[in-house]
Amino acid sequence: MKVAGVAFTVVGAGRSGIAAANLLARRGADVLLTEGREGVSRPGNLHESAAFQCGQNTPRPGDIAVLSPGIPEVSPVRGEIAQVASEVMGEVELFYRLCPATVLAITGTDGKSTTTTMLGAISEASGRPTFVGGNLGNPLTDDLDRLGEDHVVVAEVSAFQLTTCETFRPSVAIVTNISQDHLDYHGGYAPYQAAKRRIFARMGPGDTLIVNGDDPIIAGWSLPDGPRIQTFSLSDPGADGFLDGSTLMVRIEGAPVPLMDRSELRVLGIHNVANALAAALAGLAAGFSTETIREGLRTYEALPHRMETVALVDEVRWVNDSKATNVNAASAGISSMDGPVILLAGGSEKDADFSEFGALVRERAKEVVLFGATRHRLAEAIGADHVTAIVTDLQEAFDLAVVLAKAGETVLLSPACASFDQFRSYEHRGDVFRELAQAHQKGSTP
Ligand code: ADP
Repeated sequence: MKVAGVAFTVVGAGRSGIAAANLLARRGADVLLTEGREGVSRPGNLHESAAFQCGQNTPRPGDIAVLSPGIPEVSPVRGEIAQVASEVMGEVELFYRLCPATVLAITGTDGKSTTTTMLGAISEASGRPTFVGGNLGNPLTDDLDRLGEDHVVVAEVSAFQLTTCETFRPSVAIVTNISQDHLDYHGGYAPYQAAKRRIFARMGPGDTLIVNGDDPIIAGWSLPDGPRIQTFSLSDPGADGFLDGSTLMVRIEGAPVPLMDRSELRVLGIHNVANALAAALAGLAAGFSTETIREGLRTYEALPHRMETVALVDEVRWVNDSKATNVNAASAGISSMDGPVILLAGGSEKDADFSEFGALVRERAKEVVLFGATRHRLAEAIGADHVTAIVTDLQEAFDLAVVLAKAGETVLLSPACASFDQFRSYEHRGDVFRELAQAHQKGSTP
């Protein structure tokens, strides 16, 4: 794609918008960065040659528009932009068109970041120069300039980002699982799934698409004919990656090969075995050896805010799973605990259906403390007789958990909800929890 001398309007001055604008400006494009919110000042890190305006989203007529994922799929603004721009793409598409390296991509509802970083660890273990990024938090276009043909790019791509991908064709792609999330953004479950399927829309012969063989929604999809299709499963020994007792197995040219024992993984929960199987298959498809895959997975440490043990106090384990921002992720968190669990849950409202989650919580959690905007709806789904307390915020929930928890028990923050009612982000919520738990740990040390 030609960039130098070409006119682009980047719509949305979030992190990926600024990264895209800077990349284009560095490469000699005529760039306008525009931000819909009023009163936003020019980002300090914006390239000096890029122009900036706020208070409107409209591109300059005839420009190529690079659209921020912050503009919902249902927003009429998308149509307005498409009418004015010569072409519309997202930051991932822009990256892909300019990227000289092999791209391995991961999407799905839950487990994206974990699987992405597991595959990144495998690629790094191989010695190949590796870049891990995308929806993880570091925009892909930030690092494009340093990538060469021998790099491996491991890219986490969200459904938001996929809505603005047109020619994106990873050589290996993973769909971890699909459940209801972000329906407000996409305008329903069908368009959310359609966005996820765009990860493989352009894949063809020579590519490998890896999907979750246990997922009933994916089972209903029609998958493309071109790429090789592989499945991973926790229950089906016929899958390409599967669990045999406690051994992670991969099929190589049809023959099952033991990879490693589950106990060698340092991450908690059966859902992380599924993530590891997916990453292992992607590693094989990318040409890495089983030894390299084993090494990458063995040394992999959990990311912060995903089943992260943050303190051990008087034999009570405090686990931060603040990234569990939907019921599927929180269900995986609770299901992966062995001993008695005191669950702290609740947060901002996304109109999620809590009924199945409520039944699981009744079965698995010994005590339940609810906080945040969704606390009453959650209490209704779980049942009043099983809810220990409904409090206002995380601090109160934490204080109560200190009193409730006994030796051998786990206090698990796995909120099943986003955090925006009381926090800036899931990271902020998890950091607050970690600080509370660590202060408690210090206080209890004689
Ligand atoms: P994502 O990037 O898709 O949000 P993460 O790897 O950051 O996924 O994990 C988010 C949450 O989902 C965490 O609470 C984590 O424990 C949970 N989780 C991770 N992998 C899975 C999975 N395969 N199935 C269900 N939940 C998962």
